[in-house]
Formats: sequence, C-alpha cells, structure tokens
Amino acid sequence: RLNIARMRIKKVVLASRPGIFGEPVAENFRVEQAVLSENLLDGQVLVQTQYLSVDPYLRCQMDEAEMESVQSWKIGGVIDSGGIGIVQQSKDSGFCVGDTVSNFDWPWQTHCVFDGKSLQKMDPSLVNGQLSHFLGAVGTTGLTALLGMKAQAQVVPGANQTLVVSGAAGACGSLAGQIGRIMGCARVVGICGTDEKCSFLVNELGFDGALNYKKKYLAQKLKELCPNGVDIYFDNVGGTISDMVISQMNQNSHVVLCGQISQYNKDMCHPPPPAAQTEALLEERNITRDRFLLFNHTDQFDSSIQQLSKWLKEGKIKAQETITCGLENTPGAFLSMMTGGNTGKQIVQVSQ
Ligand code: NDP
Repeated sequence: RLNIARMRIKKVVLASRPGIFGEPVAENFRVEQAVLSENLLDGQVLVQTQYLSVDPYLRCQMDEAEMESVQSWKIGGVIDSGGIGIVQQSKDSGFCVGDTVSNFDWPWQTHCVFDGKSLQKMDPSLVNGQLSHFLGAVGTTGLTALLGMKAQAQVVPGANQTLVVSGAAGACGSLAGQIGRIMGCARVVGICGTDEKCSFLVNELGFDGALNYKKKYLAQKLKELCPNGVDIYFDNVGGTISDMVISQMNQNSHVVLCGQISQYNKDMCHPPPPAAQTEALLEERNITRDRFLLFNHTDQFDSSIQQLSKWLKEGKIKAQETITCGLENTPGAFLSMMTGGNTGKQIVQVSQ
C-alpha cells in the first residue's frame, strides 16, 4: 500500500446557491483546506491537478433542480468540471507515474484520488505538450464546434454560404467560426461583447466581420456584413441576439443550437422556446433548429480529436485561451467567463 494519508490539499465547495433567477457570485463558493485521509487502494490513482475547465453549463449545476443532462451540486460538496492532471502514484496497472490523464467530472482540488476506470489517458503530443488544449481546442470545446457544425450546419463547399456565430470570441464560438471556414463557408461573421474581441476575431482569426452586440444598430450592421442573408447560424447565446439573427436567415437555412447562455440565470427549460415571432419565421422559412448535445456524438470523439489536433499543428485553427492561475481563483474564473471576461477558452492553471 502507498501511504498518502494526511496529504494536505485545497478544494472548492459550493457554499450556497444563487437562486434560479440569480447571478452567481463569489459567495456561492468556498475554498477549504483538507487532507487526503485514505490510503491508495488497488485500482486507484493519485493525480495532481494541472488544469481545470470552467463552463457555462456549470451554472445549471448550482441550482437545486436537476436537468436531464446535468447533476445538481450539493451544498458543502466539492465542485467538479473537466480537468487534466498528472499521475503521481498508481495502484492501477493501466497508469504510470507521469501519465497525463483527464475526465469530465474532475473535483476542484489540488490533488485527487481517482478510480483508474474513470480516467482517460491523454497523449501530450496531440497538443504539442500544451495540456490545457485538451480542455479547449482539442477537447470538449473543439469537439462541440466541430461536431455541431458537422451535424447541423449543412455546409456545402462552393455554395457561397454565410455563417454567423454568436458568442464568437468565446471557446466554442471562436472555433466554430474557424472550422466553418475550413469546411467551406464563404463568409464568417462573429457577434461578441467588446470591440477588442471584434478586432481579435477579424485580425487574429480571419473572420470577415464582427459586431459588438452591446452597441446600437446591431440588426442594420449585421445586414451590411451579410448582404446575401444568413445561411448558417451557430448559436451560443439565444435571447434577443438570436431573434435578430434568425430574422435575417435565408429560406432553408440552418441553426446550430449549441447553447443559450443569455438565458442561464433564468428559470427556464433548456433550450427555452424561441419568441413566437421567431418560431413563426423558422416555420415559414423552413429553418432547421434542432438541439445539439455533444454527448450524443461520442462515437465520433476519437476521430474528431485527431482532426482537431492535426488542424492545430498545421496552424489551421488558433487555440486562444484565457488562463487564470491558482485553484482558489477557479470560482472567479467561472464568474468572469459567465460575464464575458474571457477570450477563447477560460482555463484555470492549478499547478505547473
Ligand atoms: P464561452 O467561452 O463562449 O464563454 C461564455 C461567453 O458568453 C462569454 O465570454 C460572453 O462573451 C458570452 N455571454 C455571456 N452572457 C451573455 C449574454 N447575456 N448575451 C450574449 N453573450 C453572453 O463559453 P463556451 O464556449 O464554453 O460555451 C458557449 C456556449 O456553448 C454556451 O451556451 C454553452 O452552454 C454551449 N455549449 C454547448 C454544448 C453542447 O453540447 N450543446 C457543449 C459545450 C458548450 P461576450 O463578451 O461576447 O458577452
């Protein structure tokens, strides 16, 4: 037996709930000191956390009521999300000290004891050694952008299609725009929350145009940037921004219904139904708008990870990240991401 008893760790727990109509705040979280009190048993692995992912869907886990695809966190319980770490001790023959491992339910702790069966071994060469990319461009985020586009966008190379992306400077959005271009969209336009993000999309990621939704005349400016109308809309935000984009969509066009972050602090089913006028437009113009759920596409994960890694290495996609350091700053990173503080994927670096 390896003795890890009394090893001191830090963890983040849920202190309180924001309430179904409440914005999450720092007081909803608490950082605690703890000790790993158990010895490592057969089949278990001790892992040092390297990076944690903070994601919009975590907002739903703060509520008491469970949704179909996410479990509610318990008050006082440790919070979890996607994570990456390095094996420090192993009593599972499938893992060696130094292996890079990942899973989707990683506790917000500096060190964790996992059942080896719950971990996936990762090959660092897929991300040129930059392990955080396994939580972003070569992980869930990249998969969401790629598989969402593949499943629902109906890109036809050479068909002169215009793609609009909302939440465009965020993790999924910044990749969806780049991938749409690779797949053959003729024109890619992003919508996001600051002028700096707009410049980033156009100057760094090669978008044809970008709009700040906090400024006036959004509909008019979108029309100017999309003179032939919108053929594909990768929707990360929902609400009035999406109503406006959909009003400019062409006959037989397609919405990739990825997320609705503008609605996550409301007591609504997910995805919430569109406004009546938008619903009528969808019908009238025969616009497809089916909910996309990444975990319905697990059969394509391995091949898609290879594809994303290849594009990353070839420089065809840029993997922008906003990195916050320190486990105790994980709640702050989450709150910042929910209010637009990030460009690209928001990551927390827990250890070097
Ligand atoms: P992002 O990196 O895009 O971060 C969230 C961004 O949302 C912020 O940066 C902010 O940017 C924007 N935002 C916040 N509030 C609003 C608002 N009220 N109106 C408009 N924009 C807002 O997060 P992800 O890329 O991780 O997630 C993007 C979307 O994809 C989410 O809706 C998420 O739930 C969804 N998703 C869906 C999956 C699926 O399987 N269907 C899987 C993974 C993610 P800004 O400065 O532009 O306001």
